[in-house]
Amino acid sequence: MKNKLFVMSAASGAGKTTLKDLVIKEFPDIQYSISATTRPPRAGEKNGVHYFFKDKEDFLKMIENDELVEWNEVHGNYYGTPKRFVEETLAAGNRVLFDLDVFGKINFDKVYPESTGILILPPSIEVLKQRLHSRATDTEKVINLRLENAKKEMDFARIHGKYEYTIINDDLEKAANELRKILKIS
Ligand code: 5GP
Repeated sequence: MKNKLFVMSAASGAGKTTLKDLVIKEFPDIQYSISATTRPPRAGEKNGVHYFFKDKEDFLKMIENDELVEWNEVHGNYYGTPKRFVEETLAAGNRVLFDLDVFGKINFDKVYPESTGILILPPSIEVLKQRLHSRATDTEKVINLRLENAKKEMDFARIHGKYEYTIINDDLEKAANELRKILKIS
């Protein structure tokens, strides 16, 4: 199971999605695990591409039916990793890349202890704040909640997280190269 499962975690605004989208297409044997969420879609987000968008009732049913590897409540919404996709992708001999919050990663490790953890950090809280504002997809209230959570998440990851790699995303191309190297090792 070693080098088959890669978990990326980051505070929102750290540039993780851009980084992932840039690099993953270069690795045809790595499939991205699409999470289920109760968060409403942002502009441009498509069901079944970015997330499987669910209402709360359906999400709770997925938990009840044991369909998720792990799940967590993040910024007031539920997020979870569908089990079947992971099992099928591994069975087909491919690798899987996940995007999980730092708490979800701990639960994920209980099921798959041999995953490779990659923590993406913004250069600073100040930069994170600017990025969240320039993205302009969230309200001021949501941005502040995300910033507060970002600080907590980074503290938690530093103390309890099991991340083999840390990438500081101050420059997209440099960060992308670091990610390429990690995915190529395997
Ligand atoms: P966003 O709403 O910005 O897309 O994601 C918010 C947070 O939820 C991010 O920290 C992201 O890593 C996390 N997240 C996305 N999918 C999952 C998942 O399936 N499980 C867990 N635990 N966190 C997730």
